[in-house]
Amino acid sequence: MLRRMTFLTIMLTLVLIFCFIVFAKSAEKITAYVSGEVENGEITVFSVDGNKCIGLKDVAIILKDTEDKFDFKVEDNTVVIKYGENYSGDLNLISIEKKEPGYSSLYMNFQIGRKSEEINVYEIENEYFLMIDDLHKIINCEISVDSENSKVYINKKIEGLGDISIDIESSGGIGRIFDSKYIGNVREKVKQIFFDVYGEKSFSTAIQEKLNSEELCHSFELLENGIRLELFTKEVIVPYSEISEFFSFDIKNYAIISMFFGESEDMGFWNTNIVVESVAVKSLSRCPYTKNKGKLPVIDPSRPVIALTFDDGPKNGTTERILDVLEKYDARATFFVVGTMVEKAPELVKREYDLGCQIGNHSYSHPILTKLKLEEANEEVSKTSNLVFDITGDYARIARPPYGSLSHEIKEASGVEWFNWSIDTYDWKTRNADSVYKNIMNNVSDGDVILMHDLYGSTVDAVEKVVPELAEKGFQMVTMKELIELKGGASNISGHIKK
Ligand code: ZN
Repeated sequence: MLRRMTFLTIMLTLVLIFCFIVFAKSAEKITAYVSGEVENGEITVFSVDGNKCIGLKDVAIILKDTEDKFDFKVEDNTVVIKYGENYSGDLNLISIEKKEPGYSSLYMNFQIGRKSEEINVYEIENEYFLMIDDLHKIINCEISVDSENSKVYINKKIEGLGDISIDIESSGGIGRIFDSKYIGNVREKVKQIFFDVYGEKSFSTAIQEKLNSEELCHSFELLENGIRLELFTKEVIVPYSEISEFFSFDIKNYAIISMFFGESEDMGFWNTNIVVESVAVKSLSRCPYTKNKGKLPVIDPSRPVIALTFDDGPKNGTTERILDVLEKYDARATFFVVGTMVEKAPELVKREYDLGCQIGNHSYSHPILTKLKLEEANEEVSKTSNLVFDITGDYARIARPPYGSLSHEIKEASGVEWFNWSIDTYDWKTRNADSVYKNIMNNVSDGDVILMHDLYGSTVDAVEKVVPELAEKGFQMVTMKELIELKGGASNISGHIKK
């Protein structure tokens, strides 16, 4: 090794002197070596007209250790880089056609699929060099130069990120996995997909604010082929292929060439250390979309399903008694909560959620929304949605208007699906358990959405009787979300507000 080093040093010095004489005016030679996870070795870098150039042979050495395992060959005046063992085709990636001698008059013609481009290649000492800036044209990777840290990043694009996941507790949102300088690009991409799916009109101020936040989106799931982002009540799936170039370096396949610049005392030339690192996609822990998913009983699609819904809570003394009943009979319900009530009893919302119940939005202060300015109405919705998120890590993605009063404008701007009901128990009016019981049992059928309020003892008394009887009759008590999924969409639910 020592001998080799000595030999190389002598050779290098000779080469440098030669270089200095021949190319002093425009091509400056830089000593460099490769280290890191790739086999260690010296590589040659030139600075030609101020551009950092790298030997094609060295490019091949670097690329060999990437996933594609490129092969490299020199045939007479042709340099050929082929895809290596991971490539089943027979495609020459690069071939150089020597047109004129000299370091500035070679052209490299390379083909990737149908793409064919010419790159200026320099011939120096019978070797071929190309500008590092042009590397991306060959290996189809993003190249970025971080001059502050003297690093060149070669980013391999990621086709799928199925193995990657993120721990939402510690993540601070999905934004963390993107390179901060590309967050804007990611936002634009999400926006574009959102527009395609829901239309521009549904892009409410609340959603825009979510997307503009630093964490980008706090609630998300990494799927096989893309990221599912929850933007309040809407969700968007962004394919990895559309955003892979924006991922931060620590989670993508990449090779780094680090160039540490400094003046060599001996030779008076610029020294460049080139460090190539090859890093595989890292695996992070998975973020559950719904934390209680998996614990819930499986729904039998052949049996009837109904949604019990409770408005105006949560309320100490009554809500927990309803939850006790639901828990006992493996039933779920949907609670359309009022923000001011949530603030008084957040632990009840937590328990509702943990039991697999769904939290719906019933405004912040229970006003007649249509009597408010659009801005105020939006705030009524987003305030409660944020409260729910703070407690559960999930947004309330459905809503029910206080007094059933809703305008088209509020509905559109909210970005939420709004629901009324198909069976009204009039529990608020009668305050009579028997009447509530009869209202339900005499009318209930598959797909019903039943309206109650978790404020009254009489309602709880009715629930204690109704839930076991419904279970006995084979009714599955599910959340609105489950009902919507089972019935093939919100518009198939009786009580869905369509206008
Ligand atoms: Zn209400």
